[in-house]
Amino acid sequence: MTNRTLRQVIQSIPASDGAGVRLRRSLGAQPGLRVDPFLMLDEFSSENPDDYVAGFPAHPHRGFETVTYLVDGHMLHEDHLGHRGDLKSGGVQWMSAGRGIVHSEMPQQERGRVRGFQLWINLPAREKMKPPAYRDLQPEEIPVVDLPGGGRVKVIAGTATADGRETRGPIAGLSTDPLYLDVALPAGGSFAQPVDGGHSAFVYPYEGSVTIAGARLPAHSAGVLGAGSRIEASAGGEGTRFLLLAGRPLGEPVVQYGPFVMNTRAEIEQAIRDYQSGELTRIA
Ligand code: MN
Repeated sequence: MTNRTLRQVIQSIPASDGAGVRLRRSLGAQPGLRVDPFLMLDEFSSENPDDYVAGFPAHPHRGFETVTYLVDGHMLHEDHLGHRGDLKSGGVQWMSAGRGIVHSEMPQQERGRVRGFQLWINLPAREKMKPPAYRDLQPEEIPVVDLPGGGRVKVIAGTATADGRETRGPIAGLSTDPLYLDVALPAGGSFAQPVDGGHSAFVYPYEGSVTIAGARLPAHSAGVLGAGSRIEASAGGEGTRFLLLAGRPLGEPVVQYGPFVMNTRAEIEQAIRDYQSGELTRIA
């Protein structure tokens, strides 16, 4: 098995989204900084309510999936179909926008820490106009694997292999076959995971740095991995927490206009017209 090396570092840059939520954007900060099928990764982390209290009021999406992983805090998700999800520390909301959704994500706290991630995963052309779908994963539905040398892995999507045992996450069976792990390692700890040789993969440390095949990746930057069938990561002297993402690339043209991601300009123009006319959220 060939270990994957660090091929490219995408440093996060400060950004603001929603009604003024301060965040760090790595993937998606520029159109060229995507890792097919992953379009965007935002990290939000603050103990200052001014940075998050305005939240993400109602806004549309079409053509891809949004995955919100709340590490710390409490947010409420609502959409035009009447779904309502209470997102608490350790919980995940996995939404497939498909042909169209209008949703909001609002903090349910006025003090304390809010920390988490929003990941955008593209949908293949044949699924971009499917009906929207939504899953709310409570923390207890997400398996946690204890690593033999200390540390642990939360398995949000795909299958983790640690210490020879396979642990399946609650999200499986999607076209992009995503692997979404949240790994915590103590100082000097290490972790290895097999990964499909044809899948794209990246690592995002959010506490401490992580070392991949001898190269150190600092916190708050996405490390895109080269080809190979195995990922081995180790912590420095402070321990680390990082996300590991992998998925099947779609190899299709990507045309993005804000919250709409399609294959052609004509489809984007259609999405804008459908949003303005109400067709985007018409309940079939
Ligand atoms: Mn959204």
